[in-house]
Amino acid sequence: MSIKRVGVIGGGQLALMMAKSAEKLGVELVIQTPNKDDPAVTIAQSTIFAPINDAAATATLATRCDVVTFENEFVDLAALAPLAEQGVCFRPSLEVLSPLLDKYHQRCYLQQIGLPVPKFATLENVSEPWQFPLVLKSRRHGYDGQGTFIVKDADTLHQLTNAGKKTSFLVEEFVPFVKELAIIAARSPNGEIVTYPVVETQQKNQVCHRVIAPADISTELTNLIQEMAGNLLHNLQAVGIFGIELFLVGDRQVLINEIAPRTHNSGHFTLDACEVSQFEQHLRAVCDLPLGNTSLRSPAAVMINLLGYEESENDYLVKRQQLAALPNAFVYWYDKKTSRLGRKLGHVTVLLDSNTDAEEVAQIIESIWYV
Ligand code: ADP
Repeated sequence: MSIKRVGVIGGGQLALMMAKSAEKLGVELVIQTPNKDDPAVTIAQSTIFAPINDAAATATLATRCDVVTFENEFVDLAALAPLAEQGVCFRPSLEVLSPLLDKYHQRCYLQQIGLPVPKFATLENVSEPWQFPLVLKSRRHGYDGQGTFIVKDADTLHQLTNAGKKTSFLVEEFVPFVKELAIIAARSPNGEIVTYPVVETQQKNQVCHRVIAPADISTELTNLIQEMAGNLLHNLQAVGIFGIELFLVGDRQVLINEIAPRTHNSGHFTLDACEVSQFEQHLRAVCDLPLGNTSLRSPAAVMINLLGYEESENDYLVKRQQLAALPNAFVYWYDKKTSRLGRKLGHVTVLLDSNTDAEEVAQIIESIWYV
C-alpha cells in the first residue's frame, strides 16, 4: 500500500520540521495537537485540536490518514490499544513504545537487552544509602530537563519528593561524564537500519544548548555507539527515527541516558548538514520507503538552540536576520507566540569546514541571541 497521509500526534516544532520532507515525498500530514497556535498547525493538511493523550481524538485522526506516528510521546498507550486492535497502524507500534515511555521501565528494558545504563532504582526501592550528588527524575512527562534534578543533599531530596508526592520518581547515580553524546537511528518496517554520525551535545541546567557534529571521539567508540543503536532498534523491532542520548565516561565507556522514540533535538543539524534529514528519514520509515543517505554534506556542523531568556511576545526578527547573515548559517524559527525562560524558540545550524572551530561559531551565535 502506498502511504499518502501520515497522522502525527503532536504539533510542535518536530512536526513542523517534517513539512518540507512531506512535500518532497508527496505525503500529507494530519496533526493532533491542543492549541491553534501550535507550530505545526500552519503546515498541516488538517488538524484535530485535542490534547496529545486524547485517544478519542486519535480515533478521528486515524480516519483521516493511512498511518499514525508520534512527535510527542506523552500519550496514553492503554487508551490507544483498542485502536491498534481495530487495525489502526501506529508507527512505531504501541508495543515498541510500551517499555520506553516511563524512564524506569526504559532503564529496565535497556538493562534486560544488555545495554549499559547508570545505576538506578525507583524512589521506593532505594535499598542502600546512595552517595550525593544523585539524580532524581520524574518517571514520566519530563522534557528539556523539567523533572530532572541533580540533588546534592538529603534535605533537598526530601523537599523535592515531598513537593512531588503525586509523582513517581526514578533515582540514579550521578554520572561524572566527560561528554554527552547522541546518535539518531532509523529502522524501516522491513528491518533496514541506518545511523547518523555520533554528535556531542552540550547541556546547561539539563537543557540542550549546543550540538556538535561529528563528535570528536575515536572510530572504535563511534562504531560501538552505532552498533548499540542498531541492536536497540532491532531488539525493539522499531519503525521510525529514534534519538539516543549517551554519557561518555572516561575515554571509552558509554552509558545510555535516554531513548526518545521520535525525531530529536540532537538531530536538527541533519536538516542542513546531512544528505537526508532525520525528518525525511522518519517519514521514509513510517511510509515504508527505502531509507536515505545519512552522510554529512560538510566536514562538520554546529547547531545552537535559540532558547527563550525572558517572558515576551517579541518575534526577535532583527536577531534572526543577524544570525541568518552569518556564513553557512541556517536559521529555523518555530513561530511560537510567546517566549519564556528556556523555551525552545528556534535553532541555528552552521556548516563548518575542517578549519573552523565550532566553539567560536557557537559563541558568536550565542552573543547575538542572548544579548
Ligand atoms: P530530559 O528527559 O528532561 O531531557 P534527561 O534525563 O535527559 O532529562 O536529563 C537531562 C540532562 O541532565 C542530561 O542531558 C544530563 O546533562 C543531566 N543528567 C541526567 N541524568 C544524569 C545522570 N545520571 N548523571 C549526570 N547528569 C545527568
